[in-house]
Amino acid sequence: MTSFPHSPEFDLPYQSAPHCLIPAPPALPDAPLSLNRWGFADTQFLIDSDGNVQLTGARYALCGQVIDRLLPWSQSQLGLPIVPGDAHPFAWPLSPPASRLDAAALAALQQLLGDDGVSTEPLVRQRHGHGHSQEDIWAVNYEGFARIPDAVAWPRGENDARTLLLLAQQHGLALIPYGGGTNVTAACRCPTDEARPIISVDTSRMNRVRWIDPINRIACIEAGATGAQIHDVLARHGYTLGHEPDSYELSTLGGWIATHASGMKKNRYGNIEDIVIDCRVLTPSGELLRRNVADRESIGFDHRRLVLGSEGRFGIITQALVKVHALPAVQMHESILFPDFATGVRFFHDLQQSGQLPASIRLMDNRQFMLGQCLKPTPAGVAAVKSALQKWYLRRVRGFDLDRIAACTVLFEGAATEVKAQRRTVTRLMQRHGGLYGGAGNGKQGYSLTFGIAYLRDFLLTQWIIAESFETTVPWSGVLTLCAGVRERVEREHRALGLPGKPFLSQRLTQAYHGSACLYFYLGFHYKGVAAPSAMYTRLEHAAREAVLQYGGTLSHHHGIGKIRQGFLPQIASARSRELNHAIKDLLDPDNLLVCGNQ
Ligand SMILES: Cc1cc2nc3c(=O)[nH]c(=O)nc-3n(C[C@H](O)[C@H](O)[C@H](O)COP(=O)(O)OP(=O)(O)OC[C@H]3O[C@@H](n4cnc5c(N)ncnc54)[C@H](O)[C@@H]3O)c2cc1C
Repeated sequence: MTSFPHSPEFDLPYQSAPHCLIPAPPALPDAPLSLNRWGFADTQFLIDSDGNVQLTGARYALCGQVIDRLLPWSQSQLGLPIVPGDAHPFAWPLSPPASRLDAAALAALQQLLGDDGVSTEPLVRQRHGHGHSQEDIWAVNYEGFARIPDAVAWPRGENDARTLLLLAQQHGLALIPYGGGTNVTAACRCPTDEARPIISVDTSRMNRVRWIDPINRIACIEAGATGAQIHDVLARHGYTLGHEPDSYELSTLGGWIATHASGMKKNRYGNIEDIVIDCRVLTPSGELLRRNVADRESIGFDHRRLVLGSEGRFGIITQALVKVHALPAVQMHESILFPDFATGVRFFHDLQQSGQLPASIRLMDNRQFMLGQCLKPTPAGVAAVKSALQKWYLRRVRGFDLDRIAACTVLFEGAATEVKAQRRTVTRLMQRHGGLYGGAGNGKQGYSLTFGIAYLRDFLLTQWIIAESFETTVPWSGVLTLCAGVRERVEREHRALGLPGKPFLSQRLTQAYHGSACLYFYLGFHYKGVAAPSAMYTRLEHAAREAVLQYGGTLSHHHGIGKIRQGFLPQIASARSRELNHAIKDLLDPDNLLVCGNQ
C-alpha cells in the first residue's frame, strides 16, 4: 500500500499566481433533500381535493399551479384509466438491512472524521446505496434492498480521503464514492455478494471552489461541489462553468467526471470532457496527478481520459481544474414549432452544419410537447382566447396538424453580437423548414420544465405509471430510422410481455454533434395488475436498447454503464478492450477496495 505523499503541486502553476481569487465556501446548510424521492423534501407532486395535480413548495415556476390536464392526458396516452384516489402509495420506509461495521472500524472512522463525519443510521445508509433510476426508486419505496452501505463517511478534504483509503485497507473495508447520488445506472448500488463492510464515501463536505484564476479562466474545484454550489460561488465573482445537466442542482463535479456527463449548454461550454482540464484521483495504489497542465498538451498517455467515465472504480476524485467563463452578457429564451419531428430533425441538422448552434437547443416530439402543455393550467379568460386563436392560426393558416407538431426550446447565451448572429441563422433555417417562433415564454417554460420532470416520474409511480429515460447517440442519417425501430420494438415487446394498455414512448433530440445527435427517450407503461412491474420495465427497456444498438445507436450518450448496461458491453467492445479496462482496475486497485462493481 502506498503511503500517499501529499502532492500540493497538482494545481501549479495556477494556484500560486497572485491574481487568483479565493472564494468564500458555498452557503451551507442547504435545504433538506427527500430520502425516498427525487429532489428537495419541500417539493413533490400531489393530487388536490379537486383531483388536479399540484407541485408543492415555491422552488419552480410550476409550483402552486393547478395542473388539470395531466391525468386525463396520461390516461389517453396509456389507454387505461387513472383514477385520483386509487393510488399505489409508497411503503417507505421499509426496514433497511443492519450495519455490518464492527466497533473497531467505526471508532477508527469516528476518530478520523469526528462523530458527525460518520453515520450508521439506517435511512441515511440506504439513501447512499442507490441513485435515481426507476429500479432504485421502486426498491426504496416498495421492495427494499438486500445490501446497502454499512456506514457513510464524510471526508472534509483530500487528507481525510487519503486516510480513509488507508483505514479501509487496515480494517478490511470496501468503499464506494458518492457525489449527489443522482446516477441512473445503479452505479452506487452495493454488490450483494460483498462480505466486507461497505463504506459510502460522501464527498459533500469537499465542496469548495479553491481558487479562480481570472486571467487564465481556470478554477480549481473540489469534487463534492454540486452544480448549484459551483454556479453560486462562481457567479459571485462574475463567472460560470456552463455545465448544466438536468440534475445540476444535486449532482457533483466528481460525479460528472466519473459518469462522463453532458450538460444542456454543451454547445457553448462543452461537455464535461471539454471543461475538465485535469483532475486528481486517490487510488488505493497511489495518486493520479499531473503538473503543468493546460488546455492542450501532447504528453502521450493521459490519465484524465481513464478517469472520465470511470464510475467510481479506480479511486476517489478529489478536485479538478476546470475552464470557467465570464457570465454571458445576454441570455434569451425562444421556442420554435415545426409541423412534425422529422422536419425538426432536418432543421436541427442544418443548424449544426451552420456552426451557429445556440447554447442549448432541444427538439421535442409531439408527445413531449403535449406533456409540456399539460403541465400548464388550462388557459382561462384572455389567455383562453389567445390560445384558441393560436391553434386556429396553426391549423388553418399554417396547415399544422396539432397531433404531430414538434417543438424546440432554445437558449441563446453569450455576447450580444454572437446571440444576434445565432438568432439570424436560426430564423433563416427555421423559415426554410417551415417552422415558426412560439415565443420566449414557452421557450423558458420548456427549458425549465426539465427540473420538474424528475419529480413527476416519482409521483406517477404512485399513480400506477412506471417510467424512466434512456439515451443514445446516433449518426444523423439514422435518427429517424432509430426512432421508428425503437418504437416498433417497444410496442412488440409490450404486447409480448402481456402488459396492459399502450406503452408511452417519446423522444427528444437534445445534443447535436458533427456527425451524430443525442436522442433522449421517455418510456413508461401503466402497471396496475402487473406482477413485478419494475422487473418488467427493465425487460422492456432492455428490448428498447437492443433496438438502439441494432439501429446504430451507442450504448449510452451520458448516463453511462453502471450495472444496468454491463451486459451489453460485449456487444460494443472487443474482449481485449474489456480486458484492458479490467487490467487497469487491477493495477490501480488490486484488492478491489473500490467495490461498486460497475462496468
Ligand atoms: C433528474 C435527473 C436528470 C439528469 N440529467 C442528466 C443530464 O442532463 N446529463 C447527464 O450527464 N446526466 C444526467 N443525469 C444523471 C446523473 O445526474 C449524472 O450521471 C451525474 O453526473 C451523477 O453525478 P452525482 O454527483 O450524482 O454522482 P453519483 O450518482 O453520486 O455517482 C455516480 C458514479 O460516480 C461515482 N462518483 C461520484 N463521485 C465520485 C468521486 N468524487 N470520485 C470517484 N467516483 C465518484 C460513484 O461511485 C458512482 O459510480 C440525470 C439524473 C437525474 C436523476
